[in-house]
Amino acid sequence: MIRAEAPVLAHNYHPLPVVIARAEDVWVEDVEGRRYLDMLAGYSALNFGHRHPALIEAAHRQLDQLTLTSRAFHHDRLAGFAAGLAELTGLDMVLPMNTGAEAVESGIKVARKWAYDVKGVPADRATIVVAADNFHGRTTTIVGFSDDETARAGFGPFTPGFRVVPYNDLAALEAAVDETTAAVLIEPIQGEAGVIIPDDGYLTGVRELTRRHGCLFIADEIQSGLGRTGSTLAVDHESVVPDVVLLGKALGGGIVPVSAVVARREVLGVLHPGEHGSTFGGNPLAAAVGSAVVELLATGEFQRRATELGEVLRAGLAALVGEGVTGFRVRGLWAGVDIDPALGTGREISERLLDEGILVKDTHGSTIRLAPPLTITREVLESALKSLGKVLG
Ligand code: PLP
Repeated sequence: MIRAEAPVLAHNYHPLPVVIARAEDVWVEDVEGRRYLDMLAGYSALNFGHRHPALIEAAHRQLDQLTLTSRAFHHDRLAGFAAGLAELTGLDMVLPMNTGAEAVESGIKVARKWAYDVKGVPADRATIVVAADNFHGRTTTIVGFSDDETARAGFGPFTPGFRVVPYNDLAALEAAVDETTAAVLIEPIQGEAGVIIPDDGYLTGVRELTRRHGCLFIADEIQSGLGRTGSTLAVDHESVVPDVVLLGKALGGGIVPVSAVVARREVLGVLHPGEHGSTFGGNPLAAAVGSAVVELLATGEFQRRATELGEVLRAGLAALVGEGVTGFRVRGLWAGVDIDPALGTGREISERLLDEGILVKDTHGSTIRLAPPLTITREVLESALKSLGKVLG
């Protein structure tokens, strides 16, 4: 089956050699019936586990009623979804899209429009400040302000208007912001870079600085948001409210692609009919699943689990430091684990964990990321940490 892919599928991924056929909660099963623990959770798209009963029920119910109208017409699920998401995030309005990259693109467009219409930046002069080592998706504009050469090389020319500053460096940010700045766009925790957590006070500093300079703070919470870090949003750890929050991944419950730009009214209010859109954005199936996701998060249970089990994860990784682990970063149920390069590349470690029945993915070099579904039990998490120790030992 793996060999059958090569002639017919673009080679833009290098998957681990496992062919998954079924899944439930934290477990997946391959075509031969072998069971694996999912410690990647679809890059945090599966925060609620595979096929969470409440989400599957919401999807089934909606499949039997209505799946697509386009935004040419109103449908009966969209207002409830938007209201729920606005309330969950403490913001006012929602622009529904599909994938994460689309939410980022849409956030950039909205910020530029806001800069011209509200801030008064001269036409075509708006700039957006982003962080080094960012990952915001794969469109031409987005890879244009990435500093990952593999992501960029061969895809130019790129969209102008972006400035890159070091992450976690408020002085550099201050120096890059000027009267043309529409927004500062950052990940509150850099996931793809290896779960890089900024110093305490950085997000508060970004909020203060953007407010002082009259530009928007856009937080890309596509990977960090929706319970993963132990709070609904990663910015909640510093009680910071950005002007714009970008959501995706887990918003679709691991069932359908659902993303959103969530913002203050003054910001999303700049869009008028015909200026932006998406055939599938906010479709009834997406809205039904997204509403069920919002309901799950409103219970607080998943945030609580991530906080409590995050301490188990932290303790387990701390015990492995010096035993093959050279460093790690944890926030909630999300960890970047640096493995001693002498023991193998991240890819090799991932393959050895696969042999132990554990699915993970390397990020860069010898760093692997652990991000199990937030439904994982303490016992299963501890057994995964034991397997990691065995693979490194
Ligand atoms: N933004 C962040 C922070 C991400 O981690 C990702 C995906 O990993 C994206 C945007 C892009 O999302 P998508 O792959 O759904 O386009």
